[in-house]
Amino acid sequence: MTSLPGKTDKKLGLVIDLDTCVGCHACVTNCKEWNTGGHMAPLTDLNAYGKGADGVWFNRVHTYEVDDAPGCSRTVHFPKSCLHCETPACVTVCPTGASYKRTSDGIVLVNEDLCIGCKLCSWACPYGAREFDVFEGVMKKCTLCVDRIYNTNLDEVDRVPACVLTCPTGARHFGDLGDPNSDVSQLVAARGGVDLMPELGYKPTNKYLPPRPRRTAAADVGATAELVSAPGGFLGWVDRLLSR
Ligand code: SF4
Ligand code: SF4
Repeated sequence: MTSLPGKTDKKLGLVIDLDTCVGCHACVTNCKEWNTGGHMAPLTDLNAYGKGADGVWFNRVHTYEVDDAPGCSRTVHFPKSCLHCETPACVTVCPTGASYKRTSDGIVLVNEDLCIGCKLCSWACPYGAREFDVFEGVMKKCTLCVDRIYNTNLDEVDRVPACVLTCPTGARHFGDLGDPNSDVSQLVAARGGVDLMPELGYKPTNKYLPPRPRRTAAADVGATAELVSAPGGFLGWVDRLLSR
């Protein structure tokens, strides 16, 4: 068992706008490109150009067809990576202390030198956010690009996760969700941002901004959040899918 900090100084995380994501996978590709040479490098690929290609990806985009209105469906793209939970089960189950949550900024990381590859953390994560590197025999995951966001060799504007920097539609936002005055917190408040599977109690830091309803005269934020979070709504559907 590995213990968690009682409190973190910041809650750094992502806010992902499901209304504007177009499923282009630019975030996925730039995440792979940056991280395959960064803190958790390499991100192993197996049989990359052949049948049954497999590999380590920290960020994946799932695309779904969702019933929108009677006789009408819509396509929703759902990017998913580690949500840097406040009380992550992946950390507390780790027998060696390899998985840990930082007190300074709340980022959940893996110390590969301590990891014994038991995979308990991947079983514990309900979001499927952990990536086992079969070649190296250790667990890997999204680091929120710790080697970018504090990197003083980069221009200040570039000190954000690679996925955020790349997104052509501005669907990805990065900041301190523990500060109610931060841009990301205000965006979440204005758009009715939601947690993924909140009933599990892991308190994910990352938030999702729901897709806006189509063909309505007024986009009422409260109604929008209710529409997508309700048991029959889009996020309820994603929650049930991830719960399988
Ligand atoms: S695979 Fe590594 S990080 Fe995950 S629980 Fe086991 S030792 Fe900890
Ligand atoms: S880069 Fe932006 S628009 Fe493209 S898949 Fe990622 S979040 Fe969606």
